[in-house]
Amino acid sequence: MLKIGLTGGIGCGKSTVAKIFESLSVPVIDADQIAHALVAIGQPALAQIEVAFGSIVINPDGSLNRKALRDIVFFDAEKKYTLDAIMHPLVYQTITNQLESLIAPYCILAIPLLFETEMTDFVDRILVIDCPEGMQIERVCRRDGLSVQMVEAIIANQVSRSFRIAHANDIIDNCAAEDGLAERLKKLHNSYLSLSACRDNRVCEQHNHL
Ligand code: ADP
Repeated sequence: MLKIGLTGGIGCGKSTVAKIFESLSVPVIDADQIAHALVAIGQPALAQIEVAFGSIVINPDGSLNRKALRDIVFFDAEKKYTLDAIMHPLVYQTITNQLESLIAPYCILAIPLLFETEMTDFVDRILVIDCPEGMQIERVCRRDGLSVQMVEAIIANQVSRSFRIAHANDIIDNCAAEDGLAERLKKLHNSYLSLSACRDNRVCEQHNHL
């Protein structure tokens, strides 16, 4: 099965695009949702996180205090490494299990930090959702109620826009209003359906910039 890695900077529109693929009956495996589920109450990863970071990252009801954990790892590379060492193998394994149970011409692997977590080998093609940084900041401030400085810091922690574009097989330009997006994704969907019929998806080199 052809595996499309869907990625892009925060606020570029990955979730919006993933929903449109789902509406086209394309299976979407979402790394963020998986990571979220892996730290639910009672999951082994949550216990490991508590051991590594202390009870400060656990809410009174036993759930993960995401803000406390984010505050700890955001500016501390070593702590971030510790968290990644707990989470990444579990996320890989869950993605692999979910892939094994799928039957479809192609699927979308929505992995926001595809490059940062070195998961590019997991996918056959890379689809980047792109928009300028100013637009990312505006959209994320509005969506999450974060400060401009916080969004800038998150963007600075991710690979650059130019790096993503340089490594993309396909690019969706998500600057314009959402109206035309579904139509462009339908074109991309058709292109992926034809590519999925190729015997070697990597050799079928066709680039889409829509
Ligand atoms: P990501 O998943 O990449 O962080 P989202 O898909 O959540 O980004 O989009 C960020 C915000 O911008 C959301 O509130 C979404 O509704 C909005 N958005 C996404 N695409 C567009 C667009 N083309 N025009 C206007 N708003 C958009």
